[in-house]
Amino acid sequence: MTCLVPLLGDQLSPGLAALREADKADTIVLMMEVAAEASYVPHHRKKIAFLFSAMRHFAAELRDAGWTVDYVALDDLANGQDFDSEVVRAVARHGATSIVTVEAGEWRVIDAQQRWGALTGLPCTILPDDRFLFSRTDFADWAHNRKRLVMEDFYRLMRRHTGILMDGIAPAGGQWNFDIENRKPPRKGMTYPPLPAFAPDAITAAVLDLVAARFGNNFGELLPFSHAVTRDQALVALDDFIRHRLPRFGDYQDAMVAGEDHLFHSQLSSAMNCGLLLPLEVCQAAEAAYRAGTVPINAVEGFIRQILGWREYVRGIHWIAGPDYTARNHFGATRDLPAFYWTGETDMRCLAESVGATSRHAHAHHIQRLMVLGNFAMLIGTDPVQIHVWFLAVYDDAYEWVEAPNVIGMSQFADGGLMGSKPYAGGGAYINRMSDYCGRCRYNVKQRTGPDACPFNSLYWDFLARHRDTLGRNNRLLRMYDGWDRFDAAEQGAIRAQAAEFMAALPGKAEGY
Ligand SMILES: Cc1cc2nc3c(=O)[nH]c(=O)nc-3n(C[C@H](O)[C@H](O)[C@H](O)COP(=O)(O)OP(=O)(O)OC[C@H]3O[C@@H](n4cnc5c(N)ncnc54)[C@H](O)[C@@H]3O)c2cc1C
Ligand code: SF4
Repeated sequence: MTCLVPLLGDQLSPGLAALREADKADTIVLMMEVAAEASYVPHHRKKIAFLFSAMRHFAAELRDAGWTVDYVALDDLANGQDFDSEVVRAVARHGATSIVTVEAGEWRVIDAQQRWGALTGLPCTILPDDRFLFSRTDFADWAHNRKRLVMEDFYRLMRRHTGILMDGIAPAGGQWNFDIENRKPPRKGMTYPPLPAFAPDAITAAVLDLVAARFGNNFGELLPFSHAVTRDQALVALDDFIRHRLPRFGDYQDAMVAGEDHLFHSQLSSAMNCGLLLPLEVCQAAEAAYRAGTVPINAVEGFIRQILGWREYVRGIHWIAGPDYTARNHFGATRDLPAFYWTGETDMRCLAESVGATSRHAHAHHIQRLMVLGNFAMLIGTDPVQIHVWFLAVYDDAYEWVEAPNVIGMSQFADGGLMGSKPYAGGGAYINRMSDYCGRCRYNVKQRTGPDACPFNSLYWDFLARHRDTLGRNNRLLRMYDGWDRFDAAEQGAIRAQAAEFMAALPGKAEGY
C-alpha cells in the first residue's frame, strides 16, 4: 500500500495535516514545479524564485527527516507542467494505492484536487488546512444570518477563541483595540532598522538561474535576492522583527516614506502564507514580547489584530464568497489597468514609489497597496479583474484566498460591500498626511484643478459624484457628500472636467499584459 501525498508550494509546514496523518514507511511526498502554476498570472520573478527555492529547501528537509520525496523540477524533461498530469504520472511511477492532500487556498486548485480521484481511479482524501486558527465551517457558521460581517466583531471572537492577548475574560491592556494610538505620520529624520538578509545558497542560486532563463521577461527585479527560504531563516526574521520593529509597529503602521520600503512592518506574510511560519506561533512570539515588557500594548495589539483578525477574516470571506467572487464588479468598471503599474513610469510620486518597491521586493506595505495602488485603480474605474491579476502576480505573499478579498473587496469595493462598509477612497490629502511623497512630487497636493493639481484630488471627488446613485445613501459617506455639495456648480464642473481630462490621457494596458 503506497499513499501519494501531493504537497503544494504554499504547504511547506512540517506539521501539515497530510504529513501528520501519514506513515513515512509507505508514503511518497510529491512536490511539483509546474509551468501552469508558474504562469497562470505573470508572476514577479522574485516571487517565483522565492517559492521554488523554499520548496526545494523544504523537500531536502523532509528527506533529512526520513520522508521519501519525489520532487519534479520545472526543467525535468518528462514534466507534464500541470498538477493533473504530474499526479497521474506519479501514481503510475510509484504504484500508489491512495492519495491524501490538503485543500488548496484557491478554488481553481481545489477543482484540480477534486479531479485526482477520478483521473487516477484511487481514493483521494482532501483534508482541511488546519494551519489557520479558525476553520472554514466555523467562519461560515459565524457569518450565517449576520447582517454585516464586521471584522472587529470577528476579531474579538478570535481573541476569546484563542486566548491570545487575553487576561482571563478581559482583553489585555483593558481594551480590545488601540488603533486610536496608532497611525501616526512619519517623523522627519526617523531611522528604520534594516531587514535581515539571507545570502543565496547553492539551491537558491540554481533557482535564480532557472528563473532568469525561463521567466526573463516577467515583471520585477530578481536580484538582489535575500528572502528567508527555510523555516530556520524565517524564525530568524521573526525574532528580528519582534526585537527591532514590533515596538514601533503600531505607531507608524500607516506611514509611507520615500525610499524606505519596509518601515516597521514585519515582512512575514510571504513566510506565513507558504507555511514556513505558522500564524499562531507568530502571534505567540509577539504576545511573549509584550508580556516580557519589551513591546507596548498598542504595537502588539495592532500587529496581532492583523493576523488573528484580518488574515483569518479575509480567508473566511474568500470561502463564503464562492468561486465567482473575482468576477464581481459593483461599479461596472471597465478601464484597462494603466501601463505604469508594470513600468513605474509616472510622475505621480506616490505611485512611482509604490510600484518601485513592488518591483524591487515583490512586496509593498499595506497602505501603499490600499491607499495608493488600490485607491488609484478604483478612482479611475479600473476593471477589477485586471487589478486583481496585477496584485496576484506581483506580490510574494499573494494567493487568491488572501489577495482576492483584499483587492476585490477591501480596495475596489467591487463586491458591493460584502467586506467593507464603504470604499477605501481617498484624495491627495490622506497621502500627504501619511507620507513624505508629495513634497517632491511634480503635482501640487493642495490643488484640485489646474495643470499642476494632484490627480488624486479631482479623481476622488469625481468618483464620489459618479457613484452617487449607489454610494450617496451610505451613512459613512454622508460627510464626504456634504463636502461635495458645498462646492458651487462651477467648481464641481471644473473638478469633473479635470478628472475626465486626466483619465482620457491615461496610458492603456502595458504591452504583453
Ligand atoms: C489591495 C491589497 C492587496 C493585498 N494583497 C495581499 C496578499 O496577496 N497577500 C497577503 O498576505 N496580504 C495582502 N494584503 C494585506 C497586507 O497588505 C499584507 O499582508 C502586508 O502588507 C504584508 O506585509 P507584512 O508582512 O510586512 O505585514 P505587517 O504590516 O507586518 O502585518 C502583519 C501580518 O498581518 C497580516 N495582514 C495584515 N493585513 C492583512 C490583510 N488585510 N489581509 C490579510 N492579512 C493581513 C499579514 O499576514 C502580515 O504579514 C493586501 C492588502 C491590500 C490592501
Ligand atoms: S501630490 Fe498627489 S500624485 Fe503627487 S505624491 Fe502627493 S498624492 Fe501622489
